[in-house]
Amino acid sequence: MQHYKMTIGGQSVDTENKFAVINPAKGQHFATCALATTTEVDAAVKAARQAFTEWSKRPDGERQHLMHEIAQLLETNMPELAQLITQETGKPLNGLNGVGANMELMGSIGWSHVTADIELPIDIIQDNDDAYVQAYRKPLGVVASITPWNWPLMIAIWHVIAALRVGNTVVIKPSENSPLSTARFVELANTVLPSGVLNVVTGFGDLGQALVSHDDVNKVVFTGSTETGKKIMASASGNLKRLTLELGGNDAAIVLPDVDVKAIAPELFGAAFHNNGQTCACLKRLYVHEDIYDSLCDELAALAKQIKVGDGLESDTQLGPLQNEAQLQQVMGLAASIENSGGRILAGGHRIERDGFFFEPTVVADLTNGTPLVDQEQFGPILPVIKVTDAEQGLELANDSQNGLGGSVWSANSEIATELAQRLECGTAWVNSHGDVQPDAPFGGVKQSGVGVEFGRYGLEECTSLHTLKIKRA
Ligand code: NDP
Repeated sequence: MQHYKMTIGGQSVDTENKFAVINPAKGQHFATCALATTTEVDAAVKAARQAFTEWSKRPDGERQHLMHEIAQLLETNMPELAQLITQETGKPLNGLNGVGANMELMGSIGWSHVTADIELPIDIIQDNDDAYVQAYRKPLGVVASITPWNWPLMIAIWHVIAALRVGNTVVIKPSENSPLSTARFVELANTVLPSGVLNVVTGFGDLGQALVSHDDVNKVVFTGSTETGKKIMASASGNLKRLTLELGGNDAAIVLPDVDVKAIAPELFGAAFHNNGQTCACLKRLYVHEDIYDSLCDELAALAKQIKVGDGLESDTQLGPLQNEAQLQQVMGLAASIENSGGRILAGGHRIERDGFFFEPTVVADLTNGTPLVDQEQFGPILPVIKVTDAEQGLELANDSQNGLGGSVWSANSEIATELAQRLECGTAWVNSHGDVQPDAPFGGVKQSGVGVEFGRYGLEECTSLHTLKIKRA
């Protein structure tokens, strides 16, 4: 059985204790990983701090070049990394609408290249006989990154490349449910990066807490649950660490009556069910105008019944298992609440009786706000479709949430849809699509979906502090 080690200060580091990593398609472990303690956390932060002095002074062009080299390493090692992602997350290699481990690799490569090329130019505020004044960006220091199990490599890339690109050093702690692709990525990146610039610690228990409360860490970037995000925010206050938090979504979509139901049903289905609904910006509440409610419900239920669910290593699998047992239990709990809430299951509704953490793609009608499946983020393959009488009611119900990550409006009239989309209380609003993020556009949540943004110039800026320089001339 393959064993994966950490990389700290450029060295491969193993521990006496190790933990098992489970393949959720089988419910059995297939590899082991080094189990860090706070000693390794301290060592990783120390290595990152030592490396910061030299790395932060490197010419920008050199760091850009190295980020491109990392992208190239991902490309060269794509088959190995994609297989590892499928084994540790359960997601298919290709999957529904092409959303799977191979896409995760392609996205990681693309994000690295685009982020490498983004510039943060100096802002010259005054340049005359009296004075020269400029505002410019400096790296923060050591960035701690805590990443989740749904897109382990892609989110690691989102956190790491932006931080390194502008001169920070990084300690990353992946989820204990899916640490392997990150451990391997860091090992590969260390073949081109100077020692200590990028470090990884693996394990669970109190490692995250140790990292985010460490006095020598200057920023935390976290993707995960709102509950843990709040704890991180409290822990980070010790030395006023900067924070970027990408938290729970529970994204709503509003469908107006003028749509072509048959044409948009597969798109809505893909937006809700890709990666088994385990994406922060998956569509999780679908508000549909009463005129087309029944026909859209029928289309979605038919799609759910056709989907091939199975082991992600099999080439025709569209959806894999839930990533972990706890997530399966969460989905089963919400499914159990449907009947009491007055819901009607149109497709699915049950655990699939086989090894692993499989659940049927499930479409539910007749629920509304105030029921568990609508109010709580399901993070699984179970979509509530909610009937509304008009667009304003759809908007009101969509905004009636503590979350505000993404949202969308679907209509043949893009002017009307755009006006409505701009009133959605969320960080990103889409018209006639949902969840498609890109490396040059900011992405982040409002309300309890997060703090700050990632991607593009705005995301890079969050990895820096703003400095002002004034040179008196007269
Ligand atoms: P969490 O959000 O609880 O995150 C777990 C990670 O956070 C681990 O690496 C853990 O490390 C670390 N952590 C936990 N407590 C603290 C703390 N106080 N300070 C610092 N780090 C901490 O994820 P779960 O896997 O438990 O998933 C829970 C729910 O989160 C899911 O059901 C889903 O709804 C949502 N989720 C959202 C995602 C998104 O993309 N927004 C992704 C994945 C899950 P350690 O064990 O060392 O403490």
